[in-house]
Amino acid sequence: MTMTDGPSHTALSTLGEFGLIERIASRVQLHHKASVKGIGDDAAVIDPQGMHQVVTTDMLLEGVHFDLGYVPLKHLGYKAVVVNLSDVYAMNAEPRQITVSLALSNRFPVEAVDELYEGILLACRNYGVDLVGGDTCSSTSGLVISVTAIGAARKEDIVYRGGAKDNELLVVSGDLGGAYMGLQILEREKAVFKETGAQPDLAGHDYILERQLKPEARRDIIELLKKLGVKPTSMIDISDGLASEAIHIARRSGLGVRIYDEKIPIDPATHQTARDFHLDPTTCALNGGEDYELLFTIAQSDFDRIKGNPDLTVIGHMTDVNSGCVLIDKHGGQHALRAQGWDAFLAPTS
Ligand code: ADP
Ligand code: MG
Repeated sequence: MTMTDGPSHTALSTLGEFGLIERIASRVQLHHKASVKGIGDDAAVIDPQGMHQVVTTDMLLEGVHFDLGYVPLKHLGYKAVVVNLSDVYAMNAEPRQITVSLALSNRFPVEAVDELYEGILLACRNYGVDLVGGDTCSSTSGLVISVTAIGAARKEDIVYRGGAKDNELLVVSGDLGGAYMGLQILEREKAVFKETGAQPDLAGHDYILERQLKPEARRDIIELLKKLGVKPTSMIDISDGLASEAIHIARRSGLGVRIYDEKIPIDPATHQTARDFHLDPTTCALNGGEDYELLFTIAQSDFDRIKGNPDLTVIGHMTDVNSGCVLIDKHGGQHALRAQGWDAFLAPTS
């Protein structure tokens, strides 16, 4: 477990800020007609082409959001972009441009920045977005990456958190809790390495490690829903855990929500690892976070269109506001849904 600097170490100072920006710009090509001007002027220029634009930013700090002890820089670059694109998809919009701002300490060689942009540009290619600008400055401590994503949608296609109606179905894509269990594995192996110097044993944990290190944004789900002719009434992406996101939809919509424990999709690998760590798999899915799945509501009348799709699971429904936000366990017991840490010993709410 070492920093993935690669063999050569060229000091950033040999390039200077302008040299570094030129190096980045030389690797960038613009694909969208909407991207009128990219890197190289005082500001990028975007033609909204009569669409509504959506803008979102996420900042990642070394030591707070990532640990370079076990996150390869290429993965970090990829993930920094993907988490922003996930927010754009959660608005039912198409991401088109990103900007990337970096604070770099001089312990970062040019090769490390190259590796970071390797991941950033791979995400740009995979999702069809243009890197149109950014900012570069020096940091006296850790690495900071801030990505802004810009997307476009027709006004009538945008989906907000607050559009859910009473009795509508709550649907989630993919499965939950995997990214959190991947993090547990990485943290465990890091602790073992610190203690004994033993090489990390990551074998057999491919799925959950990939969920943590190389998450994908669910563009495919947005496209699937369009194809099925289903427009969600509300939507959010799952960055902080199912519980917290479901509460956001309920609060914004002025409603309550019921989630059925046994309906929550959890991959067998996630389930097994949670058990090995003596954790409750449901709690990991509810509070783990970083799954970057989509959580949305649909009208009951749209159920037939999504039914049987392996990527979509109905996990509950919206209720009137007085019923609150609750989790129903296998025995029908009700537990208040909390944004952090589900307490299994909590007294039932009714
Ligand atoms: P200014 O001093 O006017 O802010 P900069 O020298 O910071 O301009 O940036 C010059 C150009 O390079 C701008 O187009 C900016 O968006 C782009 N740029 C700067 N840093 C980055 C970066 N890390 N990644 C991509 N583009 C960058
Ligand atoms: Mg600048």
